[in-house]
Amino acid sequence: MTKITELIKSGKVLISDGAWGTFLQEKGLQAGECPEIWNISHPDVVYDIARSYIDASADIIETNSFGGNKFKLKNFGLENKVREINLAAARISRKAAGKNKMVMGSIGPTGKIRMMGDVTEDELYEAFREQAMALEEGSADALVIETMSDLDEARIAIKASKENTKCEVICTMTFEKTVNKEFRTMMGVSPSDMAKTLVDAGADIIGANCGNGSKDMISIVKEIRQINKNIPVLIHSNAGLPQYKNGKTVYLENPDEMASNVDELIKAGANIIGGCCGTTPEHISKIANRINPT
Ligand SMILES: [Zn+2]
Repeated sequence: MTKITELIKSGKVLISDGAWGTFLQEKGLQAGECPEIWNISHPDVVYDIARSYIDASADIIETNSFGGNKFKLKNFGLENKVREINLAAARISRKAAGKNKMVMGSIGPTGKIRMMGDVTEDELYEAFREQAMALEEGSADALVIETMSDLDEARIAIKASKENTKCEVICTMTFEKTVNKEFRTMMGVSPSDMAKTLVDAGADIIGANCGNGSKDMISIVKEIRQINKNIPVLIHSNAGLPQYKNGKTVYLENPDEMASNVDELIKAGANIIGGCCGTTPEHISKIANRINPT
C-alpha cells in the first residue's frame, strides 16, 4: 500500500475530499440525528457522498465516522456499536475509493476534557483505540484526528492510534481568528503550539480544518512552517465563515474563490488540500484542476 507521506515526499500535492456533515444534512439527515448510524441505516447515501468526491478527483477520502467514538455515540444509546459503525464507515469509503485511492478514517473529539475531570487519560485512550482499530479493520489507510481544540486530547488520540494500528496518523486542529488577528483553538492553542506538540506525539501529518475559509488558512500554514519545515501539512478549509440566513447556516465561499487560494496555500507549505464545512464536490473538483491542470 502506498503511503500518503511517501507520495508527498515524492513532491506530489494531494487532493482530499470536502464536507460530509453539511452534505449529509442536504441528503436528509435531521438535526439531532446521529450521522454515523447512517453507515448502517443509509449506506447507499453515504456511499454516494464518498463516490462523489472520488469522481471530483480526490486522491484521499474520509469516512463518515467523525462522531464515532464511545462518548459521542452514547448520546444516541449507540455506545455498544462503536466497532460496527466504524467498520461500516471505513468499508463504504473503501468501496468508493477502490484500490487506487486512499481512505482516511475520521476521528473527532470526544467532547470530554481531561483537565476538567470529565474523564481519565486511560478512558480517552481506550475510546480512541477502539475507534481507530475498527477503522483500520474496515481498511482505512490512514486516520485523521480532526477538529481538535485541546492539545491533551489530540496527543492521547495520536498515541492510541499509533500504538494500536499500522495506519498513518494525521491530526488537525480548528483555529479561529482572534480580535488581535492571531489564530487560536477554543482552548487557546496556537498553530505553533500545535506543530511542536503533535509532531512530538508522533503525528505523521498535521494541519488545520474547519473554522476558517481558505484565505486565512494560508497564514496558519505559514505559522506551522516557521516551527517545522518538513512535517506534511493538510488543510481542510471551510467554504468561508458560516453565515445565518433565514434560520439556516450557509457557507458562501464559492469553488472558484477557494481554488484561487490554492497556489498560495501550496507556496506556504501545504501538502494535502481539501475542504471542510460547506465545501462540495465542485469545490474539490476546482481545487484539483488548480493542482493538476488538465
Ligand atoms: Zn468544518
